[in-house]
Parts: sequence; C-alpha cells; structure tokens
Amino acid sequence: MPRQYTYGPFRSRRLGLSLGIDILPKNKLCTYNCVYCEIGPTKEVVSPEFRIKLPPTSDFRNELKSILKYVPHLKSLSFTGYQGEPTLNENLLDFYSIILDVRRDLKWTDEPPLITLFTNSSTLYSSEVRERVKHFDLVLAKLDAATENDFISTNRPHKDNPDVKTIVESLVKLRKDMPNKKLAIQCLISKSYREDFISNDNKENIKQLAYAIKKIKPDIVQLYSIARIPSEYFVFAIDEKRKKQIVKTFKEIINNDLIEINYY
Ligand code: SF4
Repeated sequence: MPRQYTYGPFRSRRLGLSLGIDILPKNKLCTYNCVYCEIGPTKEVVSPEFRIKLPPTSDFRNELKSILKYVPHLKSLSFTGYQGEPTLNENLLDFYSIILDVRRDLKWTDEPPLITLFTNSSTLYSSEVRERVKHFDLVLAKLDAATENDFISTNRPHKDNPDVKTIVESLVKLRKDMPNKKLAIQCLISKSYREDFISNDNKENIKQLAYAIKKIKPDIVQLYSIARIPSEYFVFAIDEKRKKQIVKTFKEIINNDLIEINYY
C-alpha cells in the first residue's frame, strides 16, 4: 500500500524515534514564508483565517497500524510542518482521535509515544484552533522573533497575520488551556550574509524573546538553527558558541528553573 499520510520513522534530535504525520495537501500550505524554510519558498502565502477540510480516509488508520507494529519503541507521533502549517486543516482532531485509538490498542516497549504537534503559532489567536491544539501531549510552537521588525523579516507572514504581541498573548492563553500537557517554544535563530538584512540574531530580538518566554511560561525552550538548505541564500546557521550565549541570556532574563532551556 503506498503511504499517503506518514513518513519515517526517523530519528529526531529533539524527540527521539518519530513517525511523521502529514495532513496537508502535497503542495506547501503556509501562513509564513520564512527566510530559512527548509522546504523551499511558500509560493502562495495564505491568511491565518484560511482553512482546508481534508478529513482522514479509512487508509489513515490502516497505514498507521501497518507501520506501528514494527516500532514498539517509538517515542513520538508527530504532526509536523513537513508541508506547511498543520492547524490549517480543520480536521486536525479527526486525525488525532484515530491516532489515540490506534495507540491505545498497541503494545509499547516503554511509555506509549507522545502525540506531538508542530505549529508556527500563527493561528493560535483563534480560540477554536487552541481548543483543538490543547489535546496534544506535546505542542512545539514556533517563536523566532519577539519584535515586529524581526517577525516580518524572518517569518515574512501573510498580511492578515496577527502581530507578534498577539501571537505571544495566544501562547500565554494556550499554556493556560493545556495545564496537564507540555508546551515547548522553538526558536530558530540565524545569521545573515547580507548587510542590508538584519537577521533575528540581534541583541534586541534575543532580549525580547526571553521576556516573551518568561511571560508564556512553557515547559521547554528549544533553541536551534538552520540544519539544511534554507529558502534564501543569505541566511546561515549560528554556531554552538553563539547558541550557548543565547541560552545564557535566556536563563538570566527568564530566571525560572521550571523552564528547561536546551539548544540543538
Ligand atoms: S512556518 Fe515552517 S513551513 Fe512555514 S515557511 Fe516557516 S519554516 Fe516553512
């Protein structure tokens, strides 16, 4: 049976052995056009109000079962941003319910795998979307910028996207909506070769990111950088030394031992 919804399992640096779940159409569908996007430019950036209805077919359950029986040691069933922003699919929870069912019926070596959702955070201002998202065991939400200028230049959002202040407020709300689940904030920081392009690795952005995280109070912060070919030639990865410096700044400003801050 050709696979329609899943890819992997693959070893994720942050999650361990993971099965990727893709619930979007085969062409990239995203509200952003990030300078560093590793799946290439977004040809048509969509509004965060845009929705598709793409419910799972009966093949989804069968596909899951046929793979999962071989990986009882799996750590995560991950709704990824492989083709864009998964919360744009209105049927997100229909996929989630099937996974929950299949996970319950299988035997696992250790703990059952987490059901994980990656989101770029652009749709979380909508209470309807947060209502869906709050069910996941682990939500990995993107926040690369906490100043409006850095947000616009790094993520290049659709014009109808909420501003960065609203995004931070929606992450604060999401944190409160999911008290028994885990929220991770993912910050991708990069540098630029172009003198007229100020990357999000600048003092003000790093400081404001730390203040935003302090307010959101996630369980985890994951700092990382570009690992594959970026959409724009002029951005490149920060090195380990710089990651350590940023983590140090985050820790000093956030000053909360309950928040685990890691870099990759
Ligand atoms: S949000 Fe993710 S998929 Fe969308 S453009 Fe940015 S990196 Fe690419």
